[in-house]
Amino acid sequence: MKVLVCNVGSTSLKFKLYDMPAEHVQVQAYVERVGSVDNAIYTYTNWETGEVVKKDGLSVPSYTEGIQLFLEDLLHETRGVLTDIAQIEAIGFKTVLSKGHYGVHELTDEVLQGMNDYMAVAPAHNAPYLEAIYVFREMLPQVKLIGSFETAFHQTIPMSQSLYAIPYEWYETYGIRRMGYHGASHGHVAATLEAREGAADKVVSCHLGGSCSITAIDGGKSLNNSFGFSLQAGVFHNSRVGDMDAYIIPYLLKQGMTIDEITYGLEKNGGLKGISGVSNDLRLVEEAAHAGNARAALAVQMFIESIASYVGSYMVQMGGLKHLVFTGGIGENSESVRRGVCEKLAFMGLKLDEEKNQSKDKDKVISADDSAVKVHVIPANEELGIARNVYRECNQ
Ligand code: ADP
Repeated sequence: MKVLVCNVGSTSLKFKLYDMPAEHVQVQAYVERVGSVDNAIYTYTNWETGEVVKKDGLSVPSYTEGIQLFLEDLLHETRGVLTDIAQIEAIGFKTVLSKGHYGVHELTDEVLQGMNDYMAVAPAHNAPYLEAIYVFREMLPQVKLIGSFETAFHQTIPMSQSLYAIPYEWYETYGIRRMGYHGASHGHVAATLEAREGAADKVVSCHLGGSCSITAIDGGKSLNNSFGFSLQAGVFHNSRVGDMDAYIIPYLLKQGMTIDEITYGLEKNGGLKGISGVSNDLRLVEEAAHAGNARAALAVQMFIESIASYVGSYMVQMGGLKHLVFTGGIGENSESVRRGVCEKLAFMGLKLDEEKNQSKDKDKVISADDSAVKVHVIPANEELGIARNVYRECNQ
């Protein structure tokens, strides 16, 4: 069964074509700068032959042209892998949030309406996904479109952890509760530990990238996730704020700021960027911190402390910690963030092996053999989790 996985960004499209259930990647492609009429970049890799095609200066004014570029290459006589586009049985999307639909679902009108209903909660994600999904529906009406929602892995979080202590009617009327996101990534961590360690028990998984979230996993199931109702909560992100006192917003409104100004600040001018004043990219913030920039150093320190606090809180919830996992662009690459978090947990017998921490391997165990907690770096592979979900959904 051929499953195409599609990751839609506001200006990008990422594709991976899987042969399932073998989990064999046949083709990967990336369209950057969707929306540009003369400056888009396109990369296509045939994993079977190793052929890579890279084009730039392209006109890709909308998702339609980006999808067309890719579909033409899938059928190309040398670098293509399909003879008929109908060989694709299903397309899986890393969709984020749909009101009333939190698992893995065929993208029917009702599920798409649910995405529309929660547009204000995840505008940066739901808007581009809806646009791209409608293009696929029109171009490939015979193919099943499946949304593997980022909330899916977190459906096992108990009510006592997902409710806020708000007026109960807000939960009943508006559905306000913690959702849990980054499900494809944390689900992949759980599946990887189950395969390697025999079980995913008492695990804290830290997905640290442009967006960051921490998840408690026990018995292979999610028990908590640091995101909230929206993707704004928890550990702070590259430019999004993370946890803060809800009363700050009415206070700022009363000071005369508009809701748009406040929202812009929360989304674009907070997080690493807001504190450091340098960048939303941790590499640049770390460089500035090393060069003596005090705000950059403070941002890195706050980031590490906030991650460690979540680890501590989830340890209490699970009654212990056996595995600590780092994944995502920062988790996989920043040895100093990993070291900082591990140092905070040294009091409980967690011992980092600094040589392993600094080794160039992307997939590794970085704790010492006599550490009380095993610390892993596991490369994020959200697409594989989605391909598995789609395969399961189509074959149940
Ligand atoms: P996204 O969440 O957008 O998918 P990624 O998971 O790819 O992003 O993570 C991107 C982030 O990873 C960058 O913003 C950067 O801060 C961080 N990053 C990547 N490489 C390094 C590195 N060598 N050192 C520190 N941070 C890094």
